[in-house]
Amino acid sequence: MPVTIIITVIGVIAIVALVTVAVLQNRPLPQKYKYGIVLDAGSSHTALYIYEWPAEKDNNTGRAEQKHSCKVKGPGISSYASAPLKAGESLRACMQEAEQWVPERRHRETPLYLGATAGMRLLNMENSTASDGVFRAVEGALQKAPFSFQGARILSGQEEGAFGWVTVNYLDDRLKQGLETTGALDLGGASTQISFISDKFDGSESQSNSVAFRLYGNDYNLYTHSFLCYGKDQALRLTLAHQTQSGPNLISDPCFNPGYSSTKNYSAIYDSPCVSNRKPQGAPLSFIQEGKGNFLQCQEVVKNVFNFTHCKYSQCSFNGVFQPLLQGPFGAFSAYYFVMNFLNLTDTTIPLETVKQKLASYCATPWSQIMQQHPDVKVKYLAEYCFSGTYILTLLTEGYNFTSESYSDIKFIKKIKGSDAGWTLGYMLNLTNMIPAEAPDSPPLPHA
Ligand code: AMP
Repeated sequence: MPVTIIITVIGVIAIVALVTVAVLQNRPLPQKYKYGIVLDAGSSHTALYIYEWPAEKDNNTGRAEQKHSCKVKGPGISSYASAPLKAGESLRACMQEAEQWVPERRHRETPLYLGATAGMRLLNMENSTASDGVFRAVEGALQKAPFSFQGARILSGQEEGAFGWVTVNYLDDRLKQGLETTGALDLGGASTQISFISDKFDGSESQSNSVAFRLYGNDYNLYTHSFLCYGKDQALRLTLAHQTQSGPNLISDPCFNPGYSSTKNYSAIYDSPCVSNRKPQGAPLSFIQEGKGNFLQCQEVVKNVFNFTHCKYSQCSFNGVFQPLLQGPFGAFSAYYFVMNFLNLTDTTIPLETVKQKLASYCATPWSQIMQQHPDVKVKYLAEYCFSGTYILTLLTEGYNFTSESYSDIKFIKKIKGSDAGWTLGYMLNLTNMIPAEAPDSPPLPHA
């Protein structure tokens, strides 16, 4: 081959190679992510959440997001008190899902946490040996996973409230930018939390309701309170306990739809530390609960579970608990959302009076019609929506002092930018030090 042709061919190859390198260099590098897993062991169910964030921005500018969630089949872990091993086994399917969702090369370094809330708080109060047994079983199961298991524990009510508030404000980018924050209203099955920043609250009037944070260079003095026994399942027991004080065989219940009828065991109602001391002496084994479907009467019954008689502070919510003046906006999530979403009442621009009228009309709807209209909804939930909606409105207005005006400050939310609202993300961010106390250094000035 003549020398000139060889040189030309080499030249062409070199140019192609250079162009290829240039094209490849301009292609963004594949993103590297890190992961964290949190199990929310609630009173009625356990859910697993996988979070993901850009690896090179651990504690800086990248935002952790929910990549996947998995609902554990079966009841909450506190229900396995007499068969603890089953609590561990129940987690297996979701843990296997987690192994698929987190890339294998990240398994060993991925922190895994389990936090239990009010269901386990109650079991621990009632029978600490049983609660220890459940923890041993779930720990045993989680240690077998290929992740970096960091432990299982009961969160205090304060932590549950505060981390829910962190999650909401982190996802809304309010913390980093030092914007006005959103209060958090969380409703579970066994407890409920209210957390917000009030300009009038510095923690001095009630230190047990105060959590101080320094996040991204801003100081926050958060008001938070968790009401044990005021989650919606325990609140239903409280109202039933109120209605069965004289040990009747039949109760006509305004909080259930007309035509609803169910036989309930006294022991099933009263086997919770929230009501166990009120069990009527000499009551029959069971009673019949018949729905009457009357919202106003239901509201009166529900009001009885709140005590407004004493307050040693400048102001209280209920049961003598200090609460500063409400300062909005608020995000209301978990069961607040499930219930209000089912009732088509998440729109808080609708006047509170209209919301009450709509709920009253739902409560008055015959049970047969409700069942016909919602064949796919779990009957237990369906039967309780009139009670649950009434409880939510009563808790917000009578309990926390939301008014017709401030009701519109509440947004019923499930997710924020794809991540569920709840305490789990805030809990993980805290334990992995992903929210710095000080604002990240400002980026270097560009070269002139
Ligand atoms: P926890 O298990 O303590 O987190 O509480 C969750 C609460 O939400 C329980 O009272 C559940 O019964 C309730 N819940 C979950 N899903 C729904 C739903 N689809 N409709 C109504 N209530 C629900």
